[in-house]
Amino acid sequence: MPDYLNQEIKFLTGVGPKRAELLNKELGIYTFEDLLYYFPYKYIDRSKFYMIKELSPNLPFIQIKGKITGFEMLGGGNKKRLVAFFSDGTGTIELLWFKGLSYIQKSLLLNTEYIVFGRPGYFSVKYNIIHPEVENALKTQNSISAKLQAHYNTTEKLKKSFLHSKAVSKLVNNLLIVLKGKINETLPDYLIQKYKLLSLKDSLFNIHFPQSPDLLKKAIYRLKFDELFYIQLNILQKRSYRIHKSKGFIFSKVGNKLNSFYEKNLPFELTNAQKKVLKEIRKDIGSGKQMNRLLQGDVGSGKTLVALMSMLIALDNGFQACIMAPTEILANQHFVTLKEFLDGLPITVELLTGSTKKKSRQDIHANLISGDLHILIGTHALIEDTVQFKNLGLVVIDEQHRFGVAQRAKLWKKNIQPPHILVMTATPIPRTLAMTIYGDLDVSVIDELPPGRKPIQTIHLYDSKRLRMFGFIKQQIEQGRQIYIVYPLIKESEKMDYKDLEDGYESISRAFPPPKYSVSVVHGQMKSEEKDAAMNLFVKGTTHIMVATTVIEVGVNVPNASVMVIESAERFGLSQLHQLRGRVGRGADQSYCVLMTSYKLSHEARKRIDIMTKTNDGFEIAEADLKLRGPGDMEGTQQSGLAFDLKIANLGQDGQLIQYVRDIAEEILDTDPILEKEENYLLNKQLKKISNKKIDFSVIS
Ligand code: ADP
Ligand code: MG
Repeated sequence: MPDYLNQEIKFLTGVGPKRAELLNKELGIYTFEDLLYYFPYKYIDRSKFYMIKELSPNLPFIQIKGKITGFEMLGGGNKKRLVAFFSDGTGTIELLWFKGLSYIQKSLLLNTEYIVFGRPGYFSVKYNIIHPEVENALKTQNSISAKLQAHYNTTEKLKKSFLHSKAVSKLVNNLLIVLKGKINETLPDYLIQKYKLLSLKDSLFNIHFPQSPDLLKKAIYRLKFDELFYIQLNILQKRSYRIHKSKGFIFSKVGNKLNSFYEKNLPFELTNAQKKVLKEIRKDIGSGKQMNRLLQGDVGSGKTLVALMSMLIALDNGFQACIMAPTEILANQHFVTLKEFLDGLPITVELLTGSTKKKSRQDIHANLISGDLHILIGTHALIEDTVQFKNLGLVVIDEQHRFGVAQRAKLWKKNIQPPHILVMTATPIPRTLAMTIYGDLDVSVIDELPPGRKPIQTIHLYDSKRLRMFGFIKQQIEQGRQIYIVYPLIKESEKMDYKDLEDGYESISRAFPPPKYSVSVVHGQMKSEEKDAAMNLFVKGTTHIMVATTVIEVGVNVPNASVMVIESAERFGLSQLHQLRGRVGRGADQSYCVLMTSYKLSHEARKRIDIMTKTNDGFEIAEADLKLRGPGDMEGTQQSGLAFDLKIANLGQDGQLIQYVRDIAEEILDTDPILEKEENYLLNKQLKKISNKKIDFSVIS
C-alpha cells in the first residue's frame, strides 16, 4: 500500500503547485498528514438559525436562512458596492460587498434558498451583513458538517489566494475522502478499549467535521491522549534505557566527613524538604545506577547545603566532587560559603576560574590528579581538558539553564564512568512541564524555605510616584540597608535600554549624591572584570545602590540588600521578575520589591504585576506563567532547545492528562521495557516514527 500520509500536498485535489507552495510557506503544511493534523482553532455552532425579525444590535456571528429578492449596484469608484436584499419571510436585510462584485453577483441566484452567515451590523434603521458567507441551503444540509463548523487559522497571504478558513475546510474534506479506509490506528486495541478512546479515524474526522459536541469532545481527548502519551512513552523508554545501560558509582556509606560536618559544623536544623531531597539523592547514588537529578528549589531554599552534603557522601566513599557555576561571582560565593561550612574539617576545597593565577592553577591541577584536592568549585574553566580528576564521583551544576548540553557532556568524559549529576535550578518549573522537558531527569523539589524568613513585600508603583520610591530608599539606606535598581534589557532594543539605564543612573546619582551615598553600575556591555569589580563593591557593602541591567539575575547573595526596585517591570516576564525579587529577602530584615511601571499596562502585564504582588511562591508563579504565556516562552524551555511541536495538547492546561498518560506509559514499560510484546507492536512502530522526526524531548543529559 502506498504511504498516503506522506504524499506531497500538491497532489491533493484542489491544491496544485501554487497553493502547495503557499501552504508550505505559510502554514508548514507539506504532506497529506500535515494537513490532516492541521486542526481547527475554534468551532461555531451552526445549528441555530435567526429570524430577521429577531435581530437586535450587537449580535455576534449569526446565520439566517432565506432568499435573495434583488440586487443593486451602488456608488462608484472606491465606494462602489453590491447590495443583495435578503428576506426570510419575517423581514429583509442587506448583504453588502465591496470587492469581487461582478463575480459575486454572477454566482448568486434569485429565489434560491441560501444560508447566510456573518456578523450583522445596524445602520440607519436597517440591518446588514458585510461580506457574508453565503451557502446554498440544499448543499449545506448534505454537507458533512451541518452543525459545528470548524474554523482554521490562515494568514493574509493565504486569504489573498482565497485560502480562507472555509477553503481549508474544503481541502480537508477532499483529503478525508482520499484517506477513507486508509487511516491506520496508532494505539493498540487493548488501550483503546481500556481507556475508552475514540478510534483514530473517527477522531480525525470529528475534529474537522464534528458530528456532535460530544463526539468533538471525545475526538479532542483522544488526539491529546495520543500526542502526550507518545511523548511520555518516548521519554520513559529512553530513561529506562539510560538507567539500565549506564552503571553508576555506588556510594554506599555515610562516613566521617558527612558525620563530623553534621555534628560539628551544621549551624541549623535541616528543613524537612532538605531532608526529603537528601534521601532521594542518597537512594540514587547508592543504587548502582548513574544519578541524573534536577534539584528545584526557590531562591534561598537552601540548595547549596544539599549539594554540599551530597558531595560529602561522595568524599566519604573515596571520590572527588565539583560544583560548576555560571559566573565567577557565583563560583566565588560558593567557594566562600563552602569554606565557611567546612571550617576546621579535613576537607580541601579550591576555586578555579578564568582569573585563577597560573601558579595556583598548576597546584590545583596536580592536587586533582593526586586526589589531595577533594572539592573543586569553578566556572566553565572546569571543563577545560587540562582539568583532570583522580576520580570524580559527583558533579553539581548550579543554575542549569546557563550551560549547554555539550558542555555537560564534556564533564562526563572526564571519567571512565560518568559521575553522578545533580543539576540545581531556582527557576521553578511546574511539575507537568518538568515531566515533559526534563523527562529524562528525575526531579527533586525543595518546597519549603528555612524558618524565620520574612516574606518579601511587593509593591506596585506607577512611574509618577518615583519620588515616593526615592524617599523609601533613603529610609532604608539610613537603616544600613542596600538597594538594587534594575532596568530591563531586551536584545532588540539594546540601544534604547542603555539609554534608559544611563538616564536612570543619572537621576539616581542626582537624588543620591556623594559623599553621603555611593552608587555602582553593572551592565552587559562592561568587561567581565569591570562587572565583577563593581559587583564586589556592592557585595562588600561599599556602595549603597546597585544600578544594573538583568546581569545580576543569577544567584548573587547580598543578605544586607533589602530593596529590589524593578524599573519598567511591565517589560519583564513573570519568572524573571521572580528571579530578580529573589535577590532580596536573604537576611534577617524585612525586604521589599518595588515594581515600577508606566500608567498604561496591557492586560497581560497587569496580570503579571498582580500575581507578583499577591504571592512569593515560585511554583505558583511558574504555573501562572505557563498559563499566561504557554510553554514555548517559559524560561528554561528555550534554553533547553526544545522545539514544542504540539498540535493539540497544551502543556499549560493539560497537566492532569500528562500525569495520567505518564502513569499509563510507565505501567506498560514496567511489564514490557523494550516493547517487544505482540500487543505492543504498534507502540514500538509509532515510537520509531516519532524518533525519526527528531523530536527529542530528553535534552538534558
Ligand atoms: P539557594 O537555594 O538559593 O541556593 P542557599 O543554599 O544559598 O539557597 O541558602 C540560602 C541561605 O539559607 C543560606 O544563607 C543558607 O546558609 C541558609 N540555609 C540553608 N538551609 C538552612 C536551614 N535548614 N535553616 C536555616 N538556614 C538555612
Ligand atoms: Mg544558590
